[in-house]
Amino acid sequence: MAKFEGYKDIYVFVEQKNGEIANVGYELISEARKLVASIPSLGFQVVGVLLGHNITDKANEVIAHGADKVIVVDDALLEGYSTQFYADALTQVILTYKPDSFLTGATVLGRDLAPRVAARLNAGLTADATKIEIDQTKVEDGEALLLVTRPTFGGNLFGTIICPNTRPQMATIRPNVFSMDAPDAGRSGEVITFTPEWTDTDPKVVVKKVIEKVVEGVDITKADILVGAGRGAEDCLDMVKAVAEELGGEMCASRAVVDDGFADKSIQVGQTGKTVRPSLYIACGISGACQHVAGMEKSDMIIAINRDPQAEIFSIANMGFVGDVKEILPLLKEEIIAAKK
Ligand code: FAD
Repeated sequence: MAKFEGYKDIYVFVEQKNGEIANVGYELISEARKLVASIPSLGFQVVGVLLGHNITDKANEVIAHGADKVIVVDDALLEGYSTQFYADALTQVILTYKPDSFLTGATVLGRDLAPRVAARLNAGLTADATKIEIDQTKVEDGEALLLVTRPTFGGNLFGTIICPNTRPQMATIRPNVFSMDAPDAGRSGEVITFTPEWTDTDPKVVVKKVIEKVVEGVDITKADILVGAGRGAEDCLDMVKAVAEELGGEMCASRAVVDDGFADKSIQVGQTGKTVRPSLYIACGISGACQHVAGMEKSDMIIAINRDPQAEIFSIANMGFVGDVKEILPLLKEEIIAAKK
């Protein structure tokens, strides 16, 4: 008998708020498709799990984004996010369908939900991951052992974690780490409706009022072009902003600039900031510390400006300028303006 009889497929939690699905669910489905393609002999599928109220019509969108099946739990108790009811429903889904692995976005909701479900199931969970692979040496034995990598020791090292003894293998993965495939409206898949058996419908926590967060400034995770300011550009942030504006992009910053009080934490890129993957990232006076790089290395094109030719940032840049940002940025701005004419 196989070690984990009956456990199959890669499941992805498809997070939604007010019926709007968060990109991270689709990023994880796209990555899960690559993972199942790497183990064709196991015949695994990608299954989306969608929880909420009046959300059943969203299932086809999940299929268009790459799921083979979608399990929908549509219930009035799941109207807004509730730790209690979401954890109850998801635990039942997992006990019923036996996923081999279960991936959740490392969002505020995912970081709250996944560990609670893992604890109830006595399953292993790797939190805040940035990379997932499958151990190909185990596939012959019928096993799809996940190798889940996450930053550790303050971001100075990466650790790869396995959960070989229990199923499902659970992980939360940071948003923006994986790219999202374009949807294909022609894809077809199965939609399964799951009705949870509530043992306790008495909410332990009552949400009296939801106050929407006032978002100040821009959401750098959505910007296609980012110009990053590091400590070396602290005294010429106006130039960094001007170049970003000319390119139709946004300014972001390293933690040094945020800690020094020159930029808001909301635009910090990196391990303790945001993960971004724009088509162009211009790093101005940024040394390239691993904690910063962890948040922007997936950018399509990286251009670095630094006066130190040995700066680490050059090792991940596609193109580099060695020199003073205060001299290079005005020239760059002129060139951009000239190119637009
Ligand atoms: P510095 O390291 O001071 O580098 C400045 C660079 O500018 C140098 O390379 C210098 O050569 C260059 N320079 C100086 N003057 C000029 C000039 N006139 N023209 C051109 N180049 C110039 N950092 C993040 O960014 N994001 C994070 O999320 C993050 N999280 C962290 C989490 C932990 C647990 C820890 C321990 C650290 C974290 N850090 C993070 C901090 C990180 O280790 C670095 O300290 C930080 O990224 C350095 O920022 P910087 O490159 O702007 O500054």
